[in-house]
Amino acid sequence: MTLRLFNTLSREVEPFEPLAPPRVTVYSCGPTVWNYAHIGNFRTFIFVDLLRRWLEASGFSVFHVMNLTDVDDRIIKEATAKGVGIDALVSPYVDAFREDCEYLRIRPAHAQPRATEHVRAMVDLVQGLLDKGVAYRGDDGSVYFAIQRFPAYGRLSRLDTRELKTGGSGRVSSDEYSKENAQDFVLWKAARSEDEAVGAAWDAPFGRGRPGWHLECSAMALSLIGDKYGAKVLDIHTGGVDLIFPHHEDEIAQSCAYTGESAFARFWLHGEFLQIRGAKMSKRFGNIVTARALREDGVDPGAIRLLICQAHYRQPLDLTDEALEAAREGSRRLGELDRRLRDRPGASDQLASLAQETDAKVAAALDDDLNVPRAMGQVFEFVRDANRLLDRGEKADPAAVALWERWTKTLFDVLPSAREADAALASRVEALVAERATAKKTRDFARADAIRAELLALGVVVEDTPAGTKWRLA
Ligand code: AMP
Ligand code: ZN
Repeated sequence: MTLRLFNTLSREVEPFEPLAPPRVTVYSCGPTVWNYAHIGNFRTFIFVDLLRRWLEASGFSVFHVMNLTDVDDRIIKEATAKGVGIDALVSPYVDAFREDCEYLRIRPAHAQPRATEHVRAMVDLVQGLLDKGVAYRGDDGSVYFAIQRFPAYGRLSRLDTRELKTGGSGRVSSDEYSKENAQDFVLWKAARSEDEAVGAAWDAPFGRGRPGWHLECSAMALSLIGDKYGAKVLDIHTGGVDLIFPHHEDEIAQSCAYTGESAFARFWLHGEFLQIRGAKMSKRFGNIVTARALREDGVDPGAIRLLICQAHYRQPLDLTDEALEAAREGSRRLGELDRRLRDRPGASDQLASLAQETDAKVAAALDDDLNVPRAMGQVFEFVRDANRLLDRGEKADPAAVALWERWTKTLFDVLPSAREADAALASRVEALVAERATAKKTRDFARADAIRAELLALGVVVEDTPAGTKWRLA
């Protein structure tokens, strides 16, 4: 079996072959760090993480780039409102993003360029496009891309290019616009006083200004894969479905016009939305849930990953309390088997062959356009059957454990419920035991009894011995 992936360019599932195996270059549009990323954003980043892990597990050597958009319309607006420079605005959110990724077991990309650190490459790209005559300076001082000079414009998003060609000479200067008004888009925005005030303006031969959002990704991707491999075409480019138009369409236009290649990325992969009651999770709709809120609620990251794994990346996924609760329960079951496997080493042909069968099915599912929910279903069947075998006295065969680790590593990294939940429980119990000792000392027996009951509810039994209080799991 070889890996097959749905390519938005062809709207078909295609066999995946990188340009120069085993190397695979992946560029992912990263977060705009004007605020905390929400778990809708993280659905897309977890999808990319799963893709990367599966590529690596399949023997590819991945070079993953994920940018941080640290200058764009939204950031400037927010910095202006708060009366701070863009750097001061974004810095805490850059740190927060890294922490959230760590919490969610999202592997850090090999390169995490910040747009403001690559302005040089952006200026070069704009100059190159001006030299080729596909870009022009507008009367407002900004530089625009002339979409009629690029015949492939609209191919990714299936825009009707005939209409575009008769569409006149309109231009858009904002980062976001709709398919209905596809027009020449801005590459470089002439500096306004607001931009200067927040430190978002740079010198360039074609006038002081700042990069447009679309330009940033093209410049960072091309300069990073160019420096590292001398490459001009990415193997895979990812993002959420909302980025297909205009963002990715514009990335393709700028990049291909600049490099002269027929493709910017050979595979375009887009993840569907995380929704709340059918509506896209978005700051604009006021329905966001952040990763840190979930962490503060004590949700284990394995449960969040499991929740995301419930739907194929090309299907919308609704976040509900019930779904999260079910995922927490699922994560607990996985953690439980993980612990059992560690506690019962030994040989078992039955368990080994069950694991081998599961492994083939998991691999087939992941090779089939990263069908994570199907793979997850196989893992849960294994959980059920392996528990039965262990109940009957079978041992945790090392061959089975190795395969179990391969799946859990690909899907979760570690099973946090197994390890961290233990540590979290232990520290909670220690705190309660200490509090109970104080209560007893101060003869507050009602409180001491209440704590004992609380501990019992946690599945913990306390015993008072001459050497002090001991506790164990019931
Ligand atoms: P942004 O920070 O707005 O540039 O978005 C970062 C990434 O999150 C992009 O790839 C978006 O497509 C993606 N994204 C935004 N909202 C959602 C959502 N509700 N569900 C899944 N992905 C999303
Ligand atoms: Zn991008």
